[in-house]
Amino acid sequence: MISQLSTQNSKLNIMEVCGTHTMSIARHGLKKLLPPTVNLISGPGCPICVTPVEYIDLAIQLSSINDVIVTTFGDMYNVPGSKSNMAKEHAKGSDIRIVYSSHDSLDIAEYNPKKEVVFLGVGFETTSPTIAATILAAKQRKIENFSVLPMFKVIPPALKEILNIKERKIDAFLLPGHVSTIIGSKPYDFISRDYGIPGVISGFEPQDILNSVDMIIAQIKSNRAKIEIQYKRSVEPSGNKTAQNILKKVYKIVDSNWRGIGKMPKSGMTLNKDFEEFDASKRFKLKVKKAPEPKGCLCGKVLLGLKAPKDCALFGNACTPGDPIGPCMVSSEGTCAAEYKYG
Ligand code: SF4
Repeated sequence: MISQLSTQNSKLNIMEVCGTHTMSIARHGLKKLLPPTVNLISGPGCPICVTPVEYIDLAIQLSSINDVIVTTFGDMYNVPGSKSNMAKEHAKGSDIRIVYSSHDSLDIAEYNPKKEVVFLGVGFETTSPTIAATILAAKQRKIENFSVLPMFKVIPPALKEILNIKERKIDAFLLPGHVSTIIGSKPYDFISRDYGIPGVISGFEPQDILNSVDMIIAQIKSNRAKIEIQYKRSVEPSGNKTAQNILKKVYKIVDSNWRGIGKMPKSGMTLNKDFEEFDASKRFKLKVKKAPEPKGCLCGKVLLGLKAPKDCALFGNACTPGDPIGPCMVSSEGTCAAEYKYG
């Protein structure tokens, strides 16, 4: 079916929304297996890439306060803020610790009752339920020196924003498997219903991705536009109700600022009134200062699928994974990093 498309003259642009898909496609050389008429474009689904500069600055501000331990997943460590990053601040003496789960941070708080422990709460619907469970556990265990700096993102509104861009070139979506395990397929229905564009929720193995591209092509060839699930071993149309309930219990939906893209309506989550005592931005009365994006960095356009990494003049010269300028190069799931590593 995929090879049949090569007989078509026009290009089929498929956006893979998720950073893990981007990496899997690059690592396994899948673009080379597809005919030239099938064009895979990376989307905004790398959580580190879309975390704003201001957030990194706030995390650094927190790490400079006496008796504050900042805990984070390792992939945030090298992301550039406006003047520094977590790695540099750690080298200067700030107590910044890499953890493998938000629950590890809670344990650190319990063992350090005289210190404040702040976990950097970044990610999509995939990670936010676990962090919500940690906040619930903190409340239950009455651990009062633990808080979260929230910057959670929600995927469907970002896709709507992309679909509303006049010059967009997207004909179909390869939708994220992990996010969809939580939210199900229904929140994407607007894509096919309102925009007439097909989407397939894909697993992450090379054969999953090729199979999903095949399913998209089958829809296009038969003039259908539906949201289908290829990743059936993990995704139900209604998603995971337990995880959804925990999200509803702890967070509320807010407008959110996406790095390089800007503010998008209802595209983020933050702690709701019942849990705001665990919101580090409120506990430490942090003030957000607007920070500019690095000069010349095209990450915003790359994340919206409007530019490719090599369109950026800094790619591979001033900006490399060893010395990254923009978030798309620093994150292991970033489009620029994938392009640099695997070409
Ligand atoms: S190459 Fe670097 S500076 Fe250019 S878009 Fe990618 S991350 Fe940004």
